[in-house]
Amino acid sequence: MYDCVIVGGGPAGLTAGLYCARAKMNTLLLEKGTIGGQIAITDLVENYPGFPEGISGKELSLRFKEQAERFGLKIHRKEVVKIEKVGKELILHLRTGELLRSKTVILAVGASPRKLGVKGEEEFLNRGVSYCATCDGALFDGVPIAVIGGGDSACQESLFLTRFGSVVYLIHRRDQLRAQKHLQEKVLSHPKIKFLPNKVVEEIRGTDAVESLLLKDTQTGELSTLEVEGVFIFIGLEPATGFLKGFVKTDDKGYIITDERMRTSVEGVFACGDCRSGATGQVAVAVGEGCIAAIEAEKYLQENF
Ligand code: NAP
Repeated sequence: MYDCVIVGGGPAGLTAGLYCARAKMNTLLLEKGTIGGQIAITDLVENYPGFPEGISGKELSLRFKEQAERFGLKIHRKEVVKIEKVGKELILHLRTGELLRSKTVILAVGASPRKLGVKGEEEFLNRGVSYCATCDGALFDGVPIAVIGGGDSACQESLFLTRFGSVVYLIHRRDQLRAQKHLQEKVLSHPKIKFLPNKVVEEIRGTDAVESLLLKDTQTGELSTLEVEGVFIFIGLEPATGFLKGFVKTDDKGYIITDERMRTSVEGVFACGDCRSGATGQVAVAVGEGCIAAIEAEKYLQENF
């Protein structure tokens, strides 16, 4: 039986892993996808303290992982499909059919990109439609690219995509961007970025791959066609908590509700990072919450086992 199983290997989970491992708890971290989570696919992290020049998301993820492993954290690439509590024990069901037993669980499952839900989005996935600029940006060298969204991700990734696109159209449903001011300023003054406010995508069109977007003006209702070969969608995140339905309490959007000690509605189960209700989407916050969750898990172990 483990002392703690951490589900999710982003900044929150890896920090929780570092603290649990250093506390000599028998800890396993499970990650079904990429170690680092959302930051692993972020070009540059500029606001995590200690890196005045910024650091690539991939590099930061690897450093978090290396540091936690140095203190003995075990990391397995496996997916959890269900968790239940039997007496004091937590039972984790894995996609492989295996069952794991643990005294505590830290949920750091993060969030995944929200879909636009328009015609052509699924059809042209990986044939022009992408949710990851660092993964796919280079495929669109010298051709027009569209970015959808108005938040930090849309603005930051638009700037990255200017390395490749002949032009980067930033398409937003309102006339005001939501992103942090310094990102807005960089985007709006960039010679390769063309901001198209008050527009929504009605359809993504093409034959074998994306060729154009059908856009609708939200003020006038006017329809127009925009020729692009790449469409990068950054319209926010959705918590990856589907498999936890009915196990821990969530808010109406599916984010896990905790108290300020990261305790969920189930004793011995903690949550931290982007899957938590009230998440800010900041690495610094995820790291802090991962630390609190681990300290609380250790306290719970001492008091209950
Ligand atoms: P976000 O902040 O939720 O912004 C989503 C954007 O997409 C908003 O501009 C929203 O429009 C638009 N949108 C939502 N649904 C849409 C739809 N169906 N059709 C068209 N547009 C739609 O998401 P995010 O930019 O992915 O960021 C997620 C979190 O990570 C945030 O907390 C963010 O601060 C954080 N983050 C931080 C950094 C950084 O610190 N450098 C970098 C990346 C992300 P409205 O504005 O009209 O609502």
